[in-house]
Amino acid sequence: MNNVVIVGAGVAGVNAATKLVDNDFKGKITIIDMGLDPYRRPAADVMRGFLGAGGWSDGKLTYHTSIGGQLSKYTGEEKAMELFDQVIDNFKRFHPNPDEVQCSNPIAEPDFIKPHFGLRLFPVWHVGTDYLHEIGKNWHDYLIEKGVEFIWETKVTDINFDNKEAHTDQYVIPYDTLIFGVGKSGIDFGKQLAEKYELPTEPKSVQIGVRFEAPQKHFQKLIDVSYDFKLYRKYDDKGVSLRSFCTNNNAAYVAAEHTYGDISYNGHAKKDEAYRNDMTNFGILMEIKGIDKPFDWSREAVKKLQVDGVGTFYSPSHRVPSKTSEGDYVETKVVDSMDPLWDAIGEYASYINEFIEDMEIVFPTLGKDWGIYMPEVKYLSPEPLVNYDDLSLTRFPNVHFVGDALSARGITVSGAQGTLVAEQLLKN
Ligand SMILES: Cc1cc2nc3c(=O)[nH]c(=O)nc-3n(C[C@H](O)[C@H](O)[C@H](O)COP(=O)(O)OP(=O)(O)OC[C@H]3O[C@@H](n4cnc5c(N)ncnc54)[C@H](O)[C@@H]3O)c2cc1C
Repeated sequence: MNNVVIVGAGVAGVNAATKLVDNDFKGKITIIDMGLDPYRRPAADVMRGFLGAGGWSDGKLTYHTSIGGQLSKYTGEEKAMELFDQVIDNFKRFHPNPDEVQCSNPIAEPDFIKPHFGLRLFPVWHVGTDYLHEIGKNWHDYLIEKGVEFIWETKVTDINFDNKEAHTDQYVIPYDTLIFGVGKSGIDFGKQLAEKYELPTEPKSVQIGVRFEAPQKHFQKLIDVSYDFKLYRKYDDKGVSLRSFCTNNNAAYVAAEHTYGDISYNGHAKKDEAYRNDMTNFGILMEIKGIDKPFDWSREAVKKLQVDGVGTFYSPSHRVPSKTSEGDYVETKVVDSMDPLWDAIGEYASYINEFIEDMEIVFPTLGKDWGIYMPEVKYLSPEPLVNYDDLSLTRFPNVHFVGDALSARGITVSGAQGTLVAEQLLKN
């Protein structure tokens, strides 16, 4: 009997288990998670517990292979879409009011952004945050009824791939097949295993840029078309592409992120009207392919943008850095030009400069009424090299990496990866 152990009751692990039990899988299925079941999981525990980060998320299920990770790299386009359908069906199936799950599908790029930018348009299924807790309970009860065993509040601290054992502080749990779906909250654990077993990894790109901030009125015309707009442009011959990332409006705040002792920037929006500041912020993120040691390169660039222990802020019209949602000024040092960006990333800074200059053309009222926080950075964790058909490690074919642990970046892709692994287990 195949003894399947799933580490992480997140979107990926839960979809894998569901596919297995839906098809009368004859083996044993155990899911270990450091969080809690959906009945006891507190609202503040955003990342851990049944359905993982997806369970307490915004409940937006993106429905396009160019968004949220790279599933089609493994499966091809057609199969990826079919797997997405299965994940979305699962969310509808355990939804108390499935008819309320609606798909929004913007279809046309507005003319006024052309020819300077493309606007990424893709369908999104809206589950509704308010329903996720109920979905979680229904889904959990179904898996229990089908014989899945859950071990809650238990952190897996080590895995012995040679002896086929998952270790916690209290137990050693043997497995025949391991599905590793620890999500973002377990990213260091994945890295630790990759180093311990010297797992070969996929080459990664650099993801670096700035957080751009301006009064919302300048962008309103585009916000009316696409609330969380994603402007993009590509320089294929240079291995460089740029996109606006994580757009926040209405009550939009810039946040300082402390990573590896340095400060970089991100943004978030508040829902409560009391926080309204009529600002817009988004990352201008540049993906650069082909850089040797991308992690070290990014770390070095981030370091060069630190002054007096904080990141930097530049505004050509001398805007001052804004306040955080807690009312303090964003931790940053004002500089009087974009030169530090050139010093940090060299000629790549010209792509960001051009992006901003073209926004000044496309949004005529913008002028110089903007500021940038430098840098914004995404450190991509090493992605272990897997067999593309079943996402198993090339050196350990009974260990499958899924979800954010395999560079997925969203609910649909993570769930689809779990489903794919389960399909392959069922075939065998
Ligand atoms: C606030 C927020 C909002 C989001 N909104 C959206 C959205 O609207 N749409 C979208 O597509 N994506 C969204 N995301 C991203 C999405 O939630 C994730 O991409 C997705 O949940 C990843 O699924 P996963 O199964 O890989 O990991 P997760 O869902 O993160 O689950 C991982 C699980 O593993 C457990 N775990 C970790 N380490 C261990 C360990 N050592 N031992 C035992 N258990 C462990 C954790 O407790 C967790 O339950 C959001 C994320 C956050 C944080």
